[in-house]
Amino acid sequence: MKSRFAPSPTGYLHIGGARTALFAWAWAKKQKGQFVLRIEDTDQKRSTQASVDAILDGMSWLGLSHDEGPFYQTDRFDRYKVVIQQLLDEDKAYYCECSKQRLQILRDELTEKGEKAKYDGCCRNKNLDSGVVRFKNPLEGLVAFEDAVKGKISIANQELDDLIIARSDASPTYNLTVVVDDHDMGIDTVIRGDDHLNNTPRQINLYQALGWSLPEFAHLPMILGADGARLSKRHGAVGVMAYRDEGFLPEALLNYLSRLGWSHGDQEIFSLAQIVKLFELKNINKAPASFNQEKLIWLNQEYMKVANVKHLIKHLAWHLEHQALDTSAGVALELVVKHLQQRSKTLVEMVDGMKMFYQDFNEFDETLAKKQFKDGQPLKLLFEKLSLVDEWVAGNIKDQIKQVCTELEIGFGKIGQPFRLALSGNGNAGNIDIVAQLVGKNKTLARLQMALDYIAKNA
Ligand code: GLU
Repeated sequence: MKSRFAPSPTGYLHIGGARTALFAWAWAKKQKGQFVLRIEDTDQKRSTQASVDAILDGMSWLGLSHDEGPFYQTDRFDRYKVVIQQLLDEDKAYYCECSKQRLQILRDELTEKGEKAKYDGCCRNKNLDSGVVRFKNPLEGLVAFEDAVKGKISIANQELDDLIIARSDASPTYNLTVVVDDHDMGIDTVIRGDDHLNNTPRQINLYQALGWSLPEFAHLPMILGADGARLSKRHGAVGVMAYRDEGFLPEALLNYLSRLGWSHGDQEIFSLAQIVKLFELKNINKAPASFNQEKLIWLNQEYMKVANVKHLIKHLAWHLEHQALDTSAGVALELVVKHLQQRSKTLVEMVDGMKMFYQDFNEFDETLAKKQFKDGQPLKLLFEKLSLVDEWVAGNIKDQIKQVCTELEIGFGKIGQPFRLALSGNGNAGNIDIVAQLVGKNKTLARLQMALDYIAKNA
């Protein structure tokens, strides 16, 4: 069994493309088959190396590794030429010299009459030897096939026109290359977006003209934004790497993508291995799926909570570098990650939360400081008590906070809040005793002193 993912490198790896890739990959893995990556770069005007790189980076970040490829269609022009020539020789294709103007007039006339705009076969029997090459689509009969997702599909050949399979510069077009490649590469299951559903009957006719056996087709429903329109840039990030940049874990994104159009009962959380085990083409929904960013964030948080610390650190590396946060000096990164993993929705949030452990600051959030740094007495007492702590661990720090509460007869909030602000600068900190332990004794005392100075200055 062999499936493939065949993106055109004309932009980033779109989230919809990533879902197609995941389904094709999972289906191959489930059957211990092969997954092929093919870059469909025949449109040399629109294809760029940058988007080839974006596709390869995206696939590798997601961990969807291919067993064969990547193949590039631009390496296969000789092969397409042979097939096109064969179709010409067998009178299954012909040259057409109709000008753009003639085709436009034809289109306008048909549209005006309320008919489907299609080529009228003007050059079909002219025996020309230059121009574009058109495939002789059968004039009668039906093309019928069973799509694994959409069910039975049939269309009358009369609806289909004579498809251009080579442009006038002899370069092959998508419908030709995809058939030749899927055949030559032994692809037996074609999984792709349903935006290609219209192409499939034309491709089936080509398979038949070439005497090749058909693969199974599975056309995936679209992904819509929350407003019901097809997911696009205006809904936010649609490139896979943008999700990496926003701090998602690849396994959370894959889990989320798997649920876009596929389900297994009510289960929401799937490891990649489970997706492979449970995946069935027949469980793909016919209806479009809606992209829900909140749900993706929720899933990411669930993954972050239970992730292995080393795994988180591996994925944090890019973010630390990107945000230029040096964690080499100071408390061990593992401890900080462990502390933050229950409270971070994304890796970006985690890096934000880390800054207080590795970076000094010289001012406090003004609004919070005005509210929380009114009375210096609790912080002053805490400073004195903490200075005397020998074994700098959370338990001992907590005891001193409690002591301050008892001695001054104040509630925890009266010391907890200002202490949190003193330590973090912005009030974003979790369990204050653990935070203080991780910040370290010297820095804790220095920051308390800075808070006391602030209070003295603003009294
Ligand atoms: N290259 C096509 C695209 O990116 C996909 C072709 C296919 O899967 O058959 O839309």
